[in-house]
Amino acid sequence: MTHTFTHWIKTSFVMLSAIMLLSAIPPIGPVHAVPLYSNSPSPEHVYDQIDILDQWYRYLDSPGHRNAEAHILSMFDDCGLNTTVQSYTAQRLDGAVRAANVLGLLEGEDPSRCLVIGGHYDNNQRSSKGAYDNAVGVGTVIELARMFTQVHDDVPAISILFAAWDSEEGGGGGSRYFLENPVWDLDIVGYINLDMFGLSYPVRNSIPMSTEEYFKLNVYTSPISDFSIYNDVEYTDETLENFTAFRDVLENITYDQYDHPRSWVIVMDDTAGISDHRFFVQRSIPAVWFRGMNEKPREEGDLNEITFKHTPADTLETMERYAGGKAQLLEGIDTGLTISYDLANAWIEHVNTTSVVDVGEGDHEGGDGIGDVMSGAAIGLSLLVLLMIPVVFIVWKRRRGR
Ligand SMILES: [Zn+2]
Repeated sequence: MTHTFTHWIKTSFVMLSAIMLLSAIPPIGPVHAVPLYSNSPSPEHVYDQIDILDQWYRYLDSPGHRNAEAHILSMFDDCGLNTTVQSYTAQRLDGAVRAANVLGLLEGEDPSRCLVIGGHYDNNQRSSKGAYDNAVGVGTVIELARMFTQVHDDVPAISILFAAWDSEEGGGGGSRYFLENPVWDLDIVGYINLDMFGLSYPVRNSIPMSTEEYFKLNVYTSPISDFSIYNDVEYTDETLENFTAFRDVLENITYDQYDHPRSWVIVMDDTAGISDHRFFVQRSIPAVWFRGMNEKPREEGDLNEITFKHTPADTLETMERYAGGKAQLLEGIDTGLTISYDLANAWIEHVNTTSVVDVGEGDHEGGDGIGDVMSGAAIGLSLLVLLMIPVVFIVWKRRRGR
């Protein structure tokens, strides 16, 4: 009896020491470096969606525009999202017309907080089909909705809203209308904007006379140092810390996880502002805009920056020709698609863990890894308590036996 008891104490002590030692070691390497899921979103699926939307001329209130609205709604419904069409009045040059945001909500464990992933589906009056501007963005939103509902069907920590905005070409009408007239009571903690990409790294720059090797992927973020286009907004320290954390997570994925070259995949402060993300940034929401070949800055004689957006040439066929083939275009789409998917996962993780630290520590720093060290320690503590149960039981039995 005495021998068994001593053995128990010895074993318990050794195991206890080992667990305490292990739980004290912080995780190695960048916290967000490993994709949370092994399955990846498919650029082929995005291509197929461009191909569908490319059938229709989607200028406001045209027949093709209404076909696109119905198609996107059916795709969101197929994903099992809580869908709604938010209609409102938008201005065309020839008068007021009906416009409609197509929205699909995936409820999270914490349904009050929400990440928004969106892109506009209307096209400019002068575009023929708007494949690049912006069927590619809508196709990406639909593919990400599929990933979060069909491929990984576990409930996300917070809600995700998938949005196909309308009347962006009229000056950002749809997303602004949504923010001013929310359908659900949601605290929006981040926004990912997809508008014109795919002709981007690693697609080679095919423009004659161009001196650049690749088309760029410009990744414009809520600003952390250049506030020139948001200088009419006053940001609190907490917002600026949040913008910085969002940027860190994004750069970690882009440069550490995927090792994309900084000259071709360029994460930078938003100095363009000409898409739906700007209304989110103005409301202190961390946001990002994925943008491929770019007309800005268009310096005189700069042949690197030519775009066919807002022209009759904006078709899937043109995109493929510029990319040098379908396979190349798929690679170009894949860059923005995978970064946006990983960013969505990593930012949800960040928001979730940061809030856990907030409750205990009153700490708004939200540095990467704090949450993981905390949860490691918590697991260690739980194991310790479990291990103590037989020890306490044996001691209690031994004393009772005296
Ligand atoms: Zn656009």
